[in-house]
Amino acid sequence: MGKPTHFVNLKRIELLSVCFFVCCFSLAQGGDFHIPDHVERPAPIDTLATLDKFTKIVLFEDFTWKYLDLGKPVFDHKTLYEGWDSSSIHAFKEVLLEDLPDEVTLILADSLQGFCCPISNKVRSRYAFRRIREHRGTDIALSTGDSIRVAFDGVVRVKETTRNTGGYGNLLVVRHSNGLETYYGHLSRFLADTGEVVKAGEVIGLGGNTGRSTGPHLHFEVRYKGKAFDPERIIDFENGTLRDSLFVLWKHYFSIYSHYGQTDDESLAASQRIIHTIRSGDTLGALAMKYGTTVRQLCSWNGISSGTTLRIGRRLIVR
Ligand SMILES: [Zn+2]
Repeated sequence: MGKPTHFVNLKRIELLSVCFFVCCFSLAQGGDFHIPDHVERPAPIDTLATLDKFTKIVLFEDFTWKYLDLGKPVFDHKTLYEGWDSSSIHAFKEVLLEDLPDEVTLILADSLQGFCCPISNKVRSRYAFRRIREHRGTDIALSTGDSIRVAFDGVVRVKETTRNTGGYGNLLVVRHSNGLETYYGHLSRFLADTGEVVKAGEVIGLGGNTGRSTGPHLHFEVRYKGKAFDPERIIDFENGTLRDSLFVLWKHYFSIYSHYGQTDDESLAASQRIIHTIRSGDTLGALAMKYGTTVRQLCSWNGISSGTTLRIGRRLIVR
């Protein structure tokens, strides 16, 4: 039963001879066996991969062929490779917050550059200050092995395993030509390499649970000149959409207390908050008195109750 094997063999032999023919012809011609586009071609019979993933070869039944251009992203190399360092997770360490403009308008997508949601699912944890640690990204639920797609066209700057990234687990960082970088953490597998050009929507890895993680999820960050802001400001992960193709990035968005959903006034106020680190003997009543507020207000700002134990070292918003 099943397909006769000689048929399969014949197909394989035919294909091999076509490949051989194309190779010989390429060498003889030094390139595409070109037929002007206005001349009608016979039916295509196969496509072949080339060393460049953005170019394929289409074979026609009369053994002519042509290159198929899949649209390799084009970048302004000067901006893209500014301060390039593939051995360090965070780039632009020399750029200080005060050096950045108060606002900058970024083009996230246009007719040449697309967008693809890395993975569309429920948000498990948001960009926020968590007890004693800053969480500078968005956690999106997934099952181990789910495809993770790159959000925008770019070049992979960092590919590091858990051993070198600590909490991030297996991590990819992709540089984009508008000054943004996107981070993809806790991956179970890498499907892209350092220095590789990637096109929005390309699968660059598989989701996982590596690093400091309790259950499979994607830790996704977006940074401008090395400074993180809430990814939900630009992406609606539950619907898998870009909020807008243009994005005005205000300097106060880089605060860990500034997040999507606030008005710009609320964000600015949040970024100017005063933080108190709990020391031995501190009580909510004493802190309220010291900073001219109330226990109720302290509880509301910090998502705690008046009975919460104040662990030494915990940071509280006090104004
Ligand atoms: Zn996270």
